[in-house]
Amino acid sequence: MRRLYDFQCDNGHVNEFLRSSDVEEVDCPDCELKARKIVTPVKIQRDMNSSAGKERWAKQREKQIKHERKHGVTL
Ligand SMILES: [Zn+2]
Repeated sequence: MRRLYDFQCDNGHVNEFLRSSDVEEVDCPDCELKARKIVTPVKIQRDMNSSAGKERWAKQREKQIKHERKHGVTL
């Protein structure tokens, strides 16, 4: 499956390429170097910034607190 990935070379050029997930390197279009795939937790950050993500986080935290009380663990 192909999707957009960010690739960065050693000169700091970042470019987006539509590649399959097993492609780790491409030729940098700005220079002669190889650009490597950047793996960033973008999805998580987006999730935390959305209200749905915050709600989910709060629910998990609530569960965690209940768990801690039940087992006598305090943070
Ligand atoms: Zn470059």
